[in-house]
Amino acid sequence: TEFTSPPLDELLLENIKMARFTKPTPVQKYSVPIVANGRDLMACAQTGSGKTGGFLFPVLSESFKTGPSETPESARGSYMRKALPTAVVLAPTRELATQIFDEAKKFTYRSWVRPTVVYGGADVYSQMKDLDRGCDLLVATPGRLNDLLERGKISLAKVKYLVLDEADRMLDMGFEPQIRHIVDGCDMPSVENRQTLMFSATFPVDIQHLARDFLNDYIFLSV
Ligand code: AMP
Repeated sequence: TEFTSPPLDELLLENIKMARFTKPTPVQKYSVPIVANGRDLMACAQTGSGKTGGFLFPVLSESFKTGPSETPESARGSYMRKALPTAVVLAPTRELATQIFDEAKKFTYRSWVRPTVVYGGADVYSQMKDLDRGCDLLVATPGRLNDLLERGKISLAKVKYLVLDEADRMLDMGFEPQIRHIVDGCDMPSVENRQTLMFSATFPVDIQHLARDFLNDYIFLSV
């Protein structure tokens, strides 16, 4: 397929084939090599452009190769487990978070990577139980993620990839303080010690400020 440059993980390619994606969309074509090269990314892309694959493919391909990280006994075995995701995707709404999660489920099929989704307006205890079953890739709305961080159910200390999807919509919805708390006020690795990808339909000044604060020497992509 045309998904092979740069080479993606074999299992991921099989899952992409099963999803009947035969040809990368422009955002996928350009974002995969940028992210695979370890660079931070600010991508201006609309809904429907295939941006979900644009961040899931390179992140999952690398994650599949790396394998699960060592999880401390205290986190795995105890009754008060903490989820330690290596990738976190922030999204503005329950609908978008669910869509991203559904794509993540398709593309992680038969892999060790377990995706989980959490969002507001739904029972927090069932989401906590779900997190207890393991969580490598977490898709979350900002408010509910903060809630679960405060409850001690999630640690961001192992995050290697942070994705902000539809960043302009998240700011329009008033999530900026919540997002800043997640990125700077918790145990998230610093900007040099994680890879950060931002997606937004528009690039107004408030998004430029977020990009300046959250991204390290980033590549700007507009499709
Ligand atoms: P997104 O912009 O990521 O929400 O994707 C929009 C829609 O296009 C979704 O239904 C995807 O499943 C689909 N899609 C994304 N990338 C591809 C591709 N390379 N080939 C075919 N369909 C795709």
